Amino acid sequence: MKRILIIEDEKSLVRFIQLELEHEHFFVRVAYDGVSGLQLALNEEWDMILLDIMLPHLDGIEVCRRLRSAKATPVIMITARDRLEDRVQGLDIGADDYIAKPFDIEELLARMRAIFRRIDLQDHQDREVLTFRNITVDIAARIVTRGGISVELTKREFDLLVVLIKHPKLVQTRDMLLDLVWGYDSLVETNVVDVYIRYLRNKLDVPGEESIIQTVRGMGYVMRP
Ligand code: CA
Repeated sequence: MKRILIIEDEKSLVRFIQLELEHEHFFVRVAYDGVSGLQLALNEEWDMILLDIMLPHLDGIEVCRRLRSAKATPVIMITARDRLEDRVQGLDIGADDYIAKPFDIEELLARMRAIFRRIDLQDHQDREVLTFRNITVDIAARIVTRGGISVELTKREFDLLVVLIKHPKLVQTRDMLLDLVWGYDSLVETNVVDVYIRYLRNKLDVPGEESIIQTVRGMGYVMRP
């Protein structure tokens, strides 16, 4: 269950947003002023904070600024004043989005979903692990395993494997692979690709089984599932 903190002093609006969010199965807590809101924002973990700008004790801009010096919790700023400078200021200090009162609850939910999607995508890219048959490649950690056992690859071997495994079914010519792995202005001969494909096969193929990398005669190489 995602946890949402609402920092807003307009009680009827808070009640309305809270009921709608709870209906969407969010866990919701509310702070009615900037000081207690900031405290909750800092002391507990939230999936999102809905932050009004005009607040007693400490305004939303200041809450966001102080929060950002410590945490990256997603923030949607809420304000009655649909003024460009509020919006620019809010986004400048690190708010993720902005919504002007009065707003439709569907619009708020759509904006929240968009931010959650962006975060999920980011997390996913950070932890991208590609698999092909019994091979896994953890791109960020630069770890390759075969049947669960880690395999040592050189930088070139790793880069070559990533290019191939990222585009299964796509036949890559030696020239394409040379450009992608060794660089456009590289002076190496295209047959270096063949040499490195052989290294990869030696390290990753299961003896007696078909190679993970297929040669397409006269064209290049492909990892075909
Ligand atoms: Ca307010």
